[in-house]
Amino acid sequence: MSEGKGVWVFSENADLTLEMLGKGREIADKVGAELAAVVIGSNAADWANELVKYGADKVYLVDNAMFGRFQAEAYLSVLHNLVVNYKPETVLIGSTKNGKPLAARLATRLEVGCVPDCSRLGVDEKGRLVGERITYGGNAVAKLTFKTKPQIVTVPSRAFEKPQPKKRSGQVVKLDLKAEQAKTEVVETKPLETSSVRIEEAEAIVSCGRGLEKKEDRVLLDELAAVLCGQVGCSRPLAEDRKWFSEWVGLSGHKVKPKLYIACGISGVIQHVAGIRDAKVVVAINKDEQAPIFEVADYGVVGNLYEILPALKEALKKQLQ
Ligand SMILES: Cc1cc2nc3c(=O)[nH]c(=O)nc-3n(C[C@H](O)[C@H](O)[C@H](O)COP(=O)(O)OP(=O)(O)OC[C@H]3O[C@@H](n4cnc5c(N)ncnc54)[C@H](O)[C@@H]3O)c2cc1C
Repeated sequence: MSEGKGVWVFSENADLTLEMLGKGREIADKVGAELAAVVIGSNAADWANELVKYGADKVYLVDNAMFGRFQAEAYLSVLHNLVVNYKPETVLIGSTKNGKPLAARLATRLEVGCVPDCSRLGVDEKGRLVGERITYGGNAVAKLTFKTKPQIVTVPSRAFEKPQPKKRSGQVVKLDLKAEQAKTEVVETKPLETSSVRIEEAEAIVSCGRGLEKKEDRVLLDELAAVLCGQVGCSRPLAEDRKWFSEWVGLSGHKVKPKLYIACGISGVIQHVAGIRDAKVVVAINKDEQAPIFEVADYGVVGNLYEILPALKEALKKQLQ
């Protein structure tokens, strides 16, 4: 393994860190590099040790009470300091609300390129990182590589599989770094009111579109979702225009990865489909047999959702009893 060729992973989100370690391991093995995770936090030593089991050869741990809560400027100064000193060749940063601006600011400080939201990552024949991201409103996939180093990308949640933990050895490097003087101050933080389970984590999603006539009819979806132990989702117009839901699935909404996605009365235009690309099985229920959703569905039912949903619920209930 050569120094300075490291593949690094950083996210303040634990699951995403593990998913990126899985992909990072693949990339590091391909280019013959070391895989390292960066942990910035408070009382984070146990977590740093845990990351070795998930594939990290090294973990850079910056553990200090001042990093107990994510603070963009503080985290940026530490990450920048580490990258300048250890010179990794590739840095994967979790594409979270905090991670995206962090990656962009890091790349700006280093005057290097940054590719956001890579749902696929590989290495070309020259050993350069190649990232793929959805672009042009969901109509195209852009494939990008780098002319500068370190190569910085952000990675969305659930784009890659979490590896299985294994007993393996690695090194945790503790560093006593302080943050730069922040130029902003957090005045107050309040928890956001959201649904109890995040739709990205649902294994089954029953989703509706403008085929649903009234808000109260949502009960049809709720009942089927309950039988499947899943969640209810929707297309953007039901949330944004009709205000029947607070969030939606798609390019500008949640990217989901359930085992089963049932699209009811959803036409299936590209902006919606961009959010369900990673669903394992897609079932479409639509009364228009020409609806584009049937092009991406594994199973299609041409018919009225008001007749099909209750029948499907009863049939599943019997099967699952
Ligand atoms: C920049 C941009 C970003 C966008 N992002 C998103 C996004 O993230 N997610 C998203 O969803 N949209 C997004 N949109 C909107 C998108 O373009 C579509 O307008 C939207 O997805 C259509 O929603 P729909 O399928 O529910 O409605 P429609 O296109 O109106 O389709 C309704 C479907 O229901 C069927 N139907 C009607 N009645 C019944 C019935 N009784 N039984 C069965 N089927 C029935 C119809 O045949 C039809 O196919 C975006 C648009 C833009 C411009």
